[in-house]
Amino acid sequence: MDAELVKRRLKKRITETVQEFQEREDITCRFGEPELAYVSVDDVRFDMLFARGLNGHPREIYRPGRTIILYYLPLAEDIVRANEQSEEPTEEWVKAYFESLWLAMYVNQTIREVMVGQGRLISNLNNMVEWDDEKCREEWSHKYAAAIAGLGEMGPAGSFHRNGQYGGRVGGMITDGMYADRPDAIEGEELQEALAKLLNPCLFDGPCSEEMINVCPGGAITAEGIDKAKCRDYCKKYNEKTPAPEVCGKCFRFRV
Ligand code: SF4
Repeated sequence: MDAELVKRRLKKRITETVQEFQEREDITCRFGEPELAYVSVDDVRFDMLFARGLNGHPREIYRPGRTIILYYLPLAEDIVRANEQSEEPTEEWVKAYFESLWLAMYVNQTIREVMVGQGRLISNLNNMVEWDDEKCREEWSHKYAAAIAGLGEMGPAGSFHRNGQYGGRVGGMITDGMYADRPDAIEGEELQEALAKLLNPCLFDGPCSEEMINVCPGGAITAEGIDKAKCRDYCKKYNEKTPAPEVCGKCFRFRV
């Protein structure tokens, strides 16, 4: 099947999966329309992140892979806004974190079905609940890949933003099919700028505003940046096994 038809089918089937999931009686979270993007594993920014120990490399994770299929499942606006109003993460926000993880598992299954139907190889890029407690992060970040794919941008504490909004689940899978444009050959200063565009908005090296420092319930933020270990320690209160910043998210709205 033509690549554009496959993409249309993926979008349709993923939208249906989200709809079916949120209609279930045991699910309280609501989601907006899913968005998809595709990126080649040959994009040099993956090499740069890997060389700096900031992310796994898709080729190392799955050798036959040529394209990463990425999706963004936005949370309903009211859940995001309510979390901005409280001192600690709201119950709904924390619940949305877990339910969106659950939804992502169904979305991955949908992607797998569609791609296998096309005779393609398809693989996960990570264990969805993986966590390196020393590095205070996952071995593989879908968010960096999604930012490279142009689906959105990185934000504070390694959050993900799309069209000025945050609060959503980013996920992805890798296939041997060719569904992405050939990556631009960027080098030298341009490459350094591309890397800075990915890393600077995370604010791990600052600068962080007084307002941002004050909203952090974990005392993890100073003007010099976000302390990953302190953030992790606070987030363990809500998720002992994978204490990612997403379970708190109080600082995500502060963009540079
Ligand atoms: S996610 Fe929460 S604990 Fe972590 S730095 Fe942001 S506000 Fe602080």
